[in-house]
Amino acid sequence: MVALRLRDLPALHRVLGHPAVQALLTEHPQALVHEAVREALGGLRRRIAQGEEIDQGQADPALLAERAHAALAWLRRPALRGVINATGVVVHTNLGRAPLAPSAAQAAGDAAGRYVDLEFDLDAGRRGSRQDHLEPLLCRLTGAEAALVVNNNAAAVFLVLAALARGREVILSRGELVEIGGSFRIPDVMAESGAVLREVGTTNRTHLRDYVQAVGPETVAFLRVHPSNFRQIGFTHRVTGEDLAQAAHAAGLLFLEDLGSGALLPLGDEPTVREVLESGADLLTMSGDKLVGGPQAGIILGRRALVERLRQAPLYRALRPDKMTVAALAETIRLYLRGEEAAVPVYAMLTADPEGLRRRAQSLRRRLSRLGVKTAVVPLYGRAGGGALPESPLPSYGVALQGGSPDALHHRLRLGEPPVVGRIEDDRLVLDVRTVFPAQEEPLAQAVADALAAVAREG
Ligand SMILES: *Cc1c(COP(=O)(O)O)cnc(C)c1O
Repeated sequence: MVALRLRDLPALHRVLGHPAVQALLTEHPQALVHEAVREALGGLRRRIAQGEEIDQGQADPALLAERAHAALAWLRRPALRGVINATGVVVHTNLGRAPLAPSAAQAAGDAAGRYVDLEFDLDAGRRGSRQDHLEPLLCRLTGAEAALVVNNNAAAVFLVLAALARGREVILSRGELVEIGGSFRIPDVMAESGAVLREVGTTNRTHLRDYVQAVGPETVAFLRVHPSNFRQIGFTHRVTGEDLAQAAHAAGLLFLEDLGSGALLPLGDEPTVREVLESGADLLTMSGDKLVGGPQAGIILGRRALVERLRQAPLYRALRPDKMTVAALAETIRLYLRGEEAAVPVYAMLTADPEGLRRRAQSLRRRLSRLGVKTAVVPLYGRAGGGALPESPLPSYGVALQGGSPDALHHRLRLGEPPVVGRIEDDRLVLDVRTVFPAQEEPLAQAVADALAAVAREG
């Protein structure tokens, strides 16, 4: 190898004059092409300056043109890539949580590219509210008196506490001082909101009397928080929402419940949103993109006078949802109201029966076999994810892949087209069909065959 020196680098104008670069100018603006070529040359210059030994061939103008081309192509690719989720985790936060129903995705897309009556009452010819597209639907579905939608559930909890409890005391069980993925920590959110946290009980057991005895002149509410992906077993006690609601109301306080996931229809052991409201919660908060299966949103449901105070809070303006969210959430709720919840992917995936999943795993095995890949159908356990239904593992099926290191194969699959994310279990790579859309089975089989071939080539 002849090492490249700084003075061997071709002059910019020579590279720009190369036919391959000239060809790029037919597709991209001149300034961008020049910048990409300059950057490709700059990259070599930096590596040489750092003392790296680079082959002289790397300075070939055709190769530099190729680099520039790759950089220009990158700008034209979508930022987010479609991924096949073969993890069996339905609400997968790293993979964008809920995939929308086709009609909800369509509604969001339609709203995105045009003017819409987001805050305009077409009949009266005057200003309307974006919440008017959502509130009646949410109230009808859940029995709530009033509803307000914000950007996500963290924002919902924050708004409720800031608007109703700033500078006042909110009583919460020590067993519910949880952190929910990422950086959402209940005590931190409360501190940020200006509400004063009054912890009661112990980590494992909190009784109704603990709440009642802690009430003082500054207390405004009892808060109950769904522990989400955290579960306590053994010698534990948690006060029911019903008891807390009664005690709160007897003391002239509010009862707030952060449900987190929030099931609109019965799912696992989770109480439905309607049941939680009936048991006496004055306000409840939940995510739009967990069990609901809609877009990222925070849904606040409850008493009209309280929701009105939230709407009037200056902070609301910073947390309100955009038109695409409004369109997608409204359509998702309409699907539930029309009895078409099976079209909501999260709902369909969570309620898929194991026998149907076994047949789909067999069909995936056959597709793989036609591509020369031998696999076995295996029983698996999926999860709802997103902190929802943590106690119910979902009996599922999938295929287990053999050949080489499971980590190497998984890496290859993630870099494939389309990228596939599976799960490593018992030292093998497994693909759970629960979270794979039926139309993705063939591309999935092809991606697996390609990845196995690549791993075999690499030895
Ligand atoms: C998920 C969750 C949140 C945060 O909701 P986001 O929609 O992710 O902002 C808050 N509280 C509970 C109990 C949760 O499960």
